[in-house]
Amino acid sequence: MTAPTAWEPIIGLEVHAQLLTRTKIFCGCATSFGAEPNTHVCPVCLGLPGALPVLNRSAAEMAVRTALALGCTVRARSVFARKSYFYPDLPKGYQISQFDLPFSEHGHLDIEPEGGEPRRVGITRIHLEEDAGKNLHGVAEVPGQSVIDLNRAGTPLVEIVGEPDLRGPEDAVAYLKKLRSILVALGVNDGNLEEGSFRCDVNVSVRRRGTEAFGTRVEIKNINSFRHVQRGLAYEIARLTDLAERGETFRQHTRQWDDERGRTVFLREKEGSDDYRYFPDPDLPALVLDEAFVAAQRAQLPELPDARRHRLTSVLGLPTYDADLLTSHPRIGDFFEEILRSRPGDGAFAKRAANFVMTEVLAGTTTHGLEVSFPITSSQLVELLGLVEAGTISGKQAKDVYAAVQGTDRSPKSWVESQGMAQVSDASALETICQGLIDQNPKQASAYRAGKTNMLGFFVGGVMRETKGSANPVVVNEILLRLLA
Ligand code: ADP
Ligand code: MG
Ligand code: ZN
Repeated sequence: MTAPTAWEPIIGLEVHAQLLTRTKIFCGCATSFGAEPNTHVCPVCLGLPGALPVLNRSAAEMAVRTALALGCTVRARSVFARKSYFYPDLPKGYQISQFDLPFSEHGHLDIEPEGGEPRRVGITRIHLEEDAGKNLHGVAEVPGQSVIDLNRAGTPLVEIVGEPDLRGPEDAVAYLKKLRSILVALGVNDGNLEEGSFRCDVNVSVRRRGTEAFGTRVEIKNINSFRHVQRGLAYEIARLTDLAERGETFRQHTRQWDDERGRTVFLREKEGSDDYRYFPDPDLPALVLDEAFVAAQRAQLPELPDARRHRLTSVLGLPTYDADLLTSHPRIGDFFEEILRSRPGDGAFAKRAANFVMTEVLAGTTTHGLEVSFPITSSQLVELLGLVEAGTISGKQAKDVYAAVQGTDRSPKSWVESQGMAQVSDASALETICQGLIDQNPKQASAYRAGKTNMLGFFVGGVMRETKGSANPVVVNEILLRLLA
C-alpha cells in the first residue's frame, strides 16, 4: 500500500452475475455453457421480430433471494425497460433490463478489508436483465473474421450496483470476495470471474481529502480477476491523483485494464443514460412480487457465510483463520460439518479435525464453480479421525492411512487392520519391550540415570523402531520414565 496523499479515492462497483437457471430469462432455451455456437437459440433470444418474451419464474426467485441476502427491499411492482444500443452481440438493438423501477434497492454488505477496519457498504439497487451474446474474433474455424455466438444471449443476470462507499483497492477486493461468497452460498451464481459468470465494472474518482463533492469518475470495464481489480485500481488511483495534482480535468469515460502492460487505456466516451433511450418494454407486464412470494424466498435462504463463520468461531472456538478457510466454499463447509457431526459440540475435536482437513484434505481438493471434489469422502474421514480419537492409531499414522485410502473406496478401519497398523497402547506389551531395550543398553540407561535426560529420546526411538511406529508415544513415555527412574 502506498502512503496516503492529499487525494482520497472513491470507488463504486457494478457486478453482473449470471443466475444459474436451467433456461434463459425470457425463453425456453437452455443456458448451457461451452456448447457448439448458436445451438441454444430461438426466435426470442435471436431477437426475431414478433417473438414475445415470457419471464422465467426461477430467475425471479433467484433474484429475490439475492436481494434478501443483501438486505435489500423488494419492490412489489417493478418494470422491465428497453435499453437501446447498437452492437452485433445484441440482435434486437436493445437489451431488456430495468431502469427507474428496479425490483430491489437499499441493501448493504459487511466487509473486512485486509489490513483495515470492518465496514458496512451500501448497495444502491439490484435489477434483472438479459445477457448479450459473444463476439468472437479470429477463431480457428474462421480465421481473420469476426463471428457471433448467441448461446449466451438471454442468460439471466442480476446487476448489483454498489454505493461509492469504497476507499481503496483492498476495500474493492474485500467487497467482491464477500459478494461472491454470498451468491455462491445462495447457489444462484457459480462465482467464476475467468469464465465471465461474475463480472465487475469498477468506477473510481479522487477528491481532495476533507471535501465532500466527488470528482469525475472513470469506469474500468470487465476486469476478470481479483488481482486485476487490485492492480487496475492501484494504477488508476495513482493516475487520477497525478491529474488532480496538476489541475487537469477530463470527461467521464470508460477504460480497460491491460494487465500485460500494467496500465489502463482509454476505451470510449461514456454514454449518459439519455443515450440509451430507456422506455418501458411494452412486451412485458410489470413484475409483481407479492409478500407471499418474497416470504417463500426468504424461507429458502441458506445459512450465509458470515453466520456460518461466526458459529464455527464462537460456538466451537475455532480460530478465525480456520473458520475462513473452512467456509471459503459452501461445499467445503458442508463437508467439514459432516465430520463435526460425528462428535457434536466437541471443540477440541473440531480443532483436530480442522487441522487434518486443512493440512491434508484441502491440498487435494479441487473447486469448479459450485462443484467441489474431495480426495476422500466425509464418511471415510469420520472413520479415520475416529480411529485417532479412540487411540487405535496415532496422528502420524493417520496421515499414512489417509495417503492409502484417499481416492479409493477403502475403509480406513479395515485398512488399519489389514496392515496390522493399530497403535500399541497395551501397557504390559509395551513395558516388556521397554524393559528389554533397557537391559540391552545398560550404558545408555546409566547415562540417563546420571542426568543425561535427553537419552530418553534414544529409548523412545528404539521402541518406535521395534513396533514399526505403532506404539502410542504417550504410553511409551510414561513407561520409560517409570522404568528409568
Ligand atoms: P452507469 O450505469 O452509468 O455506470 P450507475 O449509476 O448505474 O451508472 O453506476 C454508477 C456506479 O458508479 C455505482 O457503483 C456508483 O457507486 C459509482 N459511482 C458513482 N459516482 C462515482 C464517483 N464519483 N466516483 C466513483 N464511483 C462512483
Ligand atoms: Mg456502469
Ligand atoms: Zn431462446
